[in-house]
Amino acid sequence: MEAALQHRSQIEAGLRLALKRDEFELHAQVQVDSDHRPIGAEALLRWRHPERGLVAPVEFIGLAEDLGLIVPIGQWVIERAAAQLAAWQGQALLGRLTLAVNVSARQLHDPGFVAMVRRAVATHGIDPGLLKLEITESAVLNDINEVVGLMQALGESGVRFSMDDFGTGYSSLQYLKRLPLSQLKIDRSFVNDIATDPNDQAIVRTIIAMAHTMNLDVIAEGVETELQRSLLGAAGCTRFQGYLIGRPVPVGEFEALARSLLERRRDAR
Ligand code: C2E
Ligand code: MG
Ligand code: MG
Ligand code: MG
Repeated sequence: MEAALQHRSQIEAGLRLALKRDEFELHAQVQVDSDHRPIGAEALLRWRHPERGLVAPVEFIGLAEDLGLIVPIGQWVIERAAAQLAAWQGQALLGRLTLAVNVSARQLHDPGFVAMVRRAVATHGIDPGLLKLEITESAVLNDINEVVGLMQALGESGVRFSMDDFGTGYSSLQYLKRLPLSQLKIDRSFVNDIATDPNDQAIVRTIIAMAHTMNLDVIAEGVETELQRSLLGAAGCTRFQGYLIGRPVPVGEFEALARSLLERRRDAR
């Protein structure tokens, strides 16, 4: 326990300095449609720790949230994502890709959030419709009115929202229908067992049918096998993300990855 505490306080000290030392980097994981065409990416944060190497978000996001550091760190992520969209703008293939950014509850409830996102969009002159914010059900539970309000405000600016890890939280359909979302993201846990668990298969079908009725698009995360992808496709899913299609890569390598996916697709025909 003492070791765990010591570990935590070391991480904490490092985390406080990480922004100043420019130790964060964005990785991107590709998303494709039923035709294997790249349609977007999810931005995933990594911490390049001077001694520990590349640190995954599970090891520091929770702590950053507890310390309130997620607000400036999240701002850095949005800023970098907007810069990346600006770099892709006008390029064949890359110019129409969406980039999804994960947003913690703590960031959503920060009073400067809407203005910060608008500023990033304006500063980089990007199409706001290409920026997608991933929120979770728990982020909405605290104060749904506040969240609906900020989603509407950003929605008027053209920014879109996706419900991440859908089906794992405690939000009710009563909540869901009030949120101005454009996408549901089926949680990896349902995808994982879709080939072996009839209940998961039924849940996935239901999520997809409901989303389509509500005019939302649906993406499945954590797709690792061809069988999973084909079962998802049979259930009506048309967007996919997961190791089967591509692992997260440093954003600088993303362009090459997206192009190679396109070429493989051409070769397959
Ligand atoms: P998430 O948003 O649900 O992201 C998906 C996670 O699943 C990523 O883990 C991704 O690398 C992993 N993944 C993708 N495909 C597969 C697959 O086929 N199989 C398996 N087993 N895993 C897959 P990662 O990058 O470690 O991120 C973990 C979580 O950390 C994210 O879950 C998100 O909640 C959070 N996170 C990441 N970046 C940020 C950020 O910039 N801000 C905030 N607030 N949270 C972030
Ligand atoms: Mg996500
Ligand atoms: Mg997710
Ligand atoms: Mg997940």
